[in-house]
Amino acid sequence: MLYIVATPIGNLEDITLRALRILKEADYIAAEDTRHTRKLLNHYNIKTRCVSFHEHSKDEKRAFLLDELRDGRDIALVSDAGTPLISDPGAALVREAVQMGLPVTSVPGPCAAVTAVTLAGLGGPFCFIGFLSKKAAERKRQIERLKYAGQPSVIYESPHALHGTLCAFADILGAERRIVVAKELTKLHERVFSGTLAQAAAEFDGDVKGEFVLVLDKAGETEEQAEDDVILNEIKKNMAAGMTKKDAAKAASEKFGISKNRAYRLSL
Ligand code: SAM
Repeated sequence: MLYIVATPIGNLEDITLRALRILKEADYIAAEDTRHTRKLLNHYNIKTRCVSFHEHSKDEKRAFLLDELRDGRDIALVSDAGTPLISDPGAALVREAVQMGLPVTSVPGPCAAVTAVTLAGLGGPFCFIGFLSKKAAERKRQIERLKYAGQPSVIYESPHALHGTLCAFADILGAERRIVVAKELTKLHERVFSGTLAQAAAEFDGDVKGEFVLVLDKAGETEEQAEDDVILNEIKKNMAAGMTKKDAAKAASEKFGISKNRAYRLSL
């Protein structure tokens, strides 16, 4: 069985009884960084053999783990912190194990995104983005898409890039959009800042340390209305170019990354 095991995001007490049992009983622990995981295992006196498995692991390593699973071995997949696969390695291994009909299960637990969402006081839908692209043009496009977001967005950010990201958000999305900056969750210096993008950029300037999750508020009604207008214009342009209403709406939905239904409703 492949067990996807969530581990603490800071506070070592945040681990389930099931996770501890699986880590103890597994034949191997496939860990993103074996030295890092050892600290957790030592804390709980777990002696299971660790093998390293990270984003740069070669295909042979994945093939080895899949062979072991096929031979009936139990493998616990862990990342450095939180839930594996959530902005962490493991997706290809899980996909292939499922495709091969091997048994896979998840042992749920901490996740920085979910922890931040609860502290932001959100009860409704949200969009998980994870890390923004490192490529400047793609990053800008991603931020531009947030302009019209109909739900809050959850973003992971490194301390050295935090101020730049908050400034870029303020530039592109407007200084008054609200954001929650959740710092060092479950740790000694946990802090939850809530304010406008301008206030956040001023607050997290200079030498910033720690781990951060950003929960960016959804667009205001004015922005959503503006997006409807932009989409409708695109549909009209497509129809003027000879497309049927249905095709024009479909093309607009693909361009703006919205549902076909929404585009079609607007076209009516
Ligand atoms: N798999 C992890 C999860 O389930 O949350 C996320 C791994 S990702 C490589 C690491 C990023 O998650 C950090 O850069 C930070 O944005 C966020 N993060 C992880 N632990 C955190 C914490 N204790 N407080 C705030 N953010 C955290």
